[in-house]
Amino acid sequence: MRDNPHIFNGHEIIISGAGPVGLSLAIALCAHGFECLVVSKESVFDQKQGDFDGRAYTIAAGCWAMWDTFGICEKIQPFAQPIQKVEAEAASFAPLSFGFDDGQSEDRPLGYLIEAHSILSALWEKAQNTKGLSLVTNSQLSGIKTHADRVDVSWNGSEGGASARLLVGCDGRESYVRKAAGITFPGHDYKAKGLVATVSLKQPHNGVARQIFLKNGPFAVLPLPNNKASLVWTEREVVAEALTDLSDRDFELELKEKIGDFLGEFSLLGGRFAYPLKMRVADSFVSDRIALAGDAAHAIHPLAGQGLNLGLKDVASLAETIAKAAHVGLDIGSPLALEPYEEWRRTETINMATSMDLLERMFKAPPIFRGFAGLGMSLVGKSETARSALIKQASGCDGENTPQLFQGRLMQFS
Ligand SMILES: Cc1cc2nc3c(=O)[nH]c(=O)nc-3n(C[C@H](O)[C@H](O)[C@H](O)COP(=O)(O)OP(=O)(O)OC[C@H]3O[C@@H](n4cnc5c(N)ncnc54)[C@H](O)[C@@H]3O)c2cc1C
Repeated sequence: MRDNPHIFNGHEIIISGAGPVGLSLAIALCAHGFECLVVSKESVFDQKQGDFDGRAYTIAAGCWAMWDTFGICEKIQPFAQPIQKVEAEAASFAPLSFGFDDGQSEDRPLGYLIEAHSILSALWEKAQNTKGLSLVTNSQLSGIKTHADRVDVSWNGSEGGASARLLVGCDGRESYVRKAAGITFPGHDYKAKGLVATVSLKQPHNGVARQIFLKNGPFAVLPLPNNKASLVWTEREVVAEALTDLSDRDFELELKEKIGDFLGEFSLLGGRFAYPLKMRVADSFVSDRIALAGDAAHAIHPLAGQGLNLGLKDVASLAETIAKAAHVGLDIGSPLALEPYEEWRRTETINMATSMDLLERMFKAPPIFRGFAGLGMSLVGKSETARSALIKQASGCDGENTPQLFQGRLMQFS
């Protein structure tokens, strides 16, 4: 492989996409001695200049533990709001809530909420200072050719190129890598958008993440540091677009009209952003010398804030699969090396995507079905066992399938 004139510094793994999943994967692999090249569409992210896309992410305990292993949490901690309690409501049924009394402690919250730009800023900083990690910026992958012993890629037409044993597509929902590999992405679009806005609250939020299921979809109030909150309002596409274009004053009026006192007194901060919502899972997570991770492999409804968490579990599982294959002397781009990753991740992803889909449909269904959904919520809310099972599942640390990095330690193989 190293004799190939097309080669770029002899990297073992090329990663397309410098989003939170691509950067986390590169950092994880390099921490275990691999050499990675990340091809990034964007230029270097700068916290001061970086565009804020309005989103704030719920980060589960397992993801936090992985990032902590690489020193990323000390950078994001000042911007992270611990989640002390989660409350969900459906009109006219007893609310469901999870909190410290469900086996958590004040030192170990249910998770954290962090604005997307604080996460990306910390990951970019770490990536630029990671041994074995090279970044090509302002570059879009545009060609892939697989061979028996390597994969060749090119970017920006053929402005640049490189070869490696494995290519990982972390290039988001419209993944070029997935399409070039001929992997289909079945599922459906919700014909709805998640409208995101940030507000400053008058009443203290006390770290409580709240969600109410309305007729057109869920409405979430996610606590942020300094008594701010990120709102995620699901609406039909046309309505969400119209709401995005309203003046701040008109938007505030619409918001009050929609959710009454649910939010208390607030003032809007910054812009509004609307994201199309989809439920799609790739037919396969691996192909010849190719693997997919994050949104390139799956898109789910954001109602439980699990999309990035799933992607970060892909990172921990794929890194473990690759490291294990290298440990036993396998070619890391071979089907034999990659198949365990597909088995590990695809079924769990389908289960998560379909659960979110079912929940979304039940609360939009005719009253009788909404009644069943509300009753189910009330029953789960009353059962300690059911609540703690849900918390465990959401943390990403759910038994023997938990990747080593999610346990907060570097990987080891005997
Ligand atoms: C409204 C909303 C709220 C959400 N809230 C949460 C939440 O609370 N918690 C949670 O876990 N998840 C949440 N999600 C999901 C989360 O946003 C995604 O799962 C996450 O961004 C996926 O990260 P990624 O790195 O896989 O993809 P992306 O963030 O899409 O990054 C992909 C990167 O690849 C780059 N790229 C694309 N094509 C190319 C190419 N050809 N060459 C090189 N680079 C390329 C892109 O520019 C981008 O930088 C939410 C989503 C929405 C819409």
